[in-house]
Amino acid sequence: MFVYADHAATTKILPCALEAYNQTAWAFYGNPSSLHTEGQRAKEVLEKSRGEIAAVLNADPREIYFTSGGSEADNQAILSAAYAGAKKGKRKLISTAIEHHAVLHTLEKLQKEGFEVVLLPVGHEGIVKAEDVRDAIDENTALVSVMLANNEIGTLQPVEEIGKICREKGVLFHTDAVQAVGHIPVDVQSIGCDYLALSAHKFGGPKGVGVLYAKRGAPLSVLIAGGAQERGKRAGTEDLPAIAAMAAALKASVADMGTSSALLKKLQTKLIFGLSRIPHSSLNGDRERRLPGNVSFCFEGCEGEALLLYLDDEGICASSGSACTSGSLDPSHVLLAIGRVHDVAHGSLRLTLGPENTEADVDYLLEKIPEVVEKVRSFSPVWRDLREGKRQFIL
Ligand SMILES: *Cc1c(COP(=O)(O)O)cnc(C)c1O
Repeated sequence: MFVYADHAATTKILPCALEAYNQTAWAFYGNPSSLHTEGQRAKEVLEKSRGEIAAVLNADPREIYFTSGGSEADNQAILSAAYAGAKKGKRKLISTAIEHHAVLHTLEKLQKEGFEVVLLPVGHEGIVKAEDVRDAIDENTALVSVMLANNEIGTLQPVEEIGKICREKGVLFHTDAVQAVGHIPVDVQSIGCDYLALSAHKFGGPKGVGVLYAKRGAPLSVLIAGGAQERGKRAGTEDLPAIAAMAAALKASVADMGTSSALLKKLQTKLIFGLSRIPHSSLNGDRERRLPGNVSFCFEGCEGEALLLYLDDEGICASSGSACTSGSLDPSHVLLAIGRVHDVAHGSLRLTLGPENTEADVDYLLEKIPEVVEKVRSFSPVWRDLREGKRQFIL
């Protein structure tokens, strides 16, 4: 059996998106900046896609900027707000300890340039408190950046409350909505954000394409200089097939959202219930306020990387921490932020289900994961010490 349970890392392209990709690449090959007929036909597809994506987000098409993905959108939002703030003497940037590296590493870069960066804690449940955001904002604050849904533990952040606070205080607000868009309803008006990042490959679109939503009037600096594409804010000939495919994937995901999220919640509940029966295990992040397909666990005395390799042998694609952290020996910053100690954080497993997963998939996961955990524990020195009482169990 084969079970792909790593949808937070990336998703398989949807048939309708692949169809839109092929159709556009073949029949609309003109450069949207060209004045001739072929160019203008391509331009129409570009603007149609922009309009469709804007409609889903409840934004104005002029607020949609196509990028190479979520990382670029996060970079552009944060750098734009920071540099605009610096011009007014505002050099404080507020974010959380559980952001994606696209946000955290951009903030680190700005910190080296003299900005003050405040990363708010999230507590055991993995959710930042809007009140903490309010308390951290002062007259020097240029930006608040809080993700909508976490990519490792799936927890949903109170972005609407935070957006309200930022509007009251006159501070720019960016939200990394890469894990949320296409999976749960996302409306830029009700969030009240100035910037929002999304990425096509997280909802059945192609890799290497995404969107930065920037509210009209929000500062926007140019990261990629060149031609006048994207209202002069992002140069480079547009990847039109990918953009059309992203719009198709988004429309399809949103149309199916009701059905698929109900199914995912059912599968998620069953999976959480089943995995909780493994001794010395614990769910990461709030039980209720999380993305419908996310199941993240820690198993004490069970090395996460070994777990993944043995699961792979059983045909199960899963993840431990985020794709960006795997390969490094540092435990996930997200798991440390929710209070997992190093040893426990090393025994993490992230299963992220998608619309094509079935109940049979979950049954298979529940058959194999307990076996593999037991196997990995059987040759773990940490597990032996725990069993022999030389170490105290934490979970
Ligand atoms: C995947 C992801 C990104 C990066 O998006 P890319 O399109 O892969 O660059 C950023 N933020 C979050 C929360 C993500 O899950």
